[in-house]
Amino acid sequence: MKDVTEARRQLEVIAAEVQQCQRCDLHVGAHQAVPGAGNPQAEVMLVGEAPSAYDDRRGYPFSGPSGQFLDELLALAGLDRESVYLTNMVRHRVPDSRELLPGEIAACADYLTRQIAAVDPLVIVALGRGALARFLPNAKISRVHGQVKVSGGRVIVAMYNPAAALHREELRQTVVDDFARALPAALMEARRLAAEGKLGSSADIPPDDDHPQQMTLF
Ligand code: SF4
Repeated sequence: MKDVTEARRQLEVIAAEVQQCQRCDLHVGAHQAVPGAGNPQAEVMLVGEAPSAYDDRRGYPFSGPSGQFLDELLALAGLDRESVYLTNMVRHRVPDSRELLPGEIAACADYLTRQIAAVDPLVIVALGRGALARFLPNAKISRVHGQVKVSGGRVIVAMYNPAAALHREELRQTVVDDFARALPAALMEARRLAAEGKLGSSADIPPDDDHPQQMTLF
């Protein structure tokens, strides 16, 4: 059983560092950092790409319309914000919603590594291409979304980012299906693997691991 007090303490330390962080230029122009939020003992961690304009104003991840959509998607999987942990690849807003630069991802990678270690989730949901590149390098989201894979001692599921699905009607049903079917299946499988000792609670996913051992379960 994870120590919730220690996990919460570690997350608070990370959040305090993020609030002061100037490792990359994204803090310039942002209203505030958005470190992450949620259950420090979550079985499921969702990793998006970057805070939205709404998040930037509130200091809270996945707020605004895409956050409301995410709430609906989580409900389809029998989850809610109180039961999961939400974070992003970078913790300051990206100007004009442009693509993340490799240097920005690298600068912020350590915070994600430490959040994963603190929460120690069974399942990581990679939302969008940027997050997918971190957990399943070289995979294409159009091919692997909704598939349950094991990498770095955790179950990984890639999904299209809800924010993208809000603007692309053709993705909307795909995202709904992935949350409704793949996420509960991934969590069930992760619990089974963990009970068999096949998921490493101390294992982490190194940010520079170009060739992780991947196993597709279904
Ligand atoms: S995006 Fe990450 S690395 Fe860059 S300033 Fe913000 S917290 Fe630091």
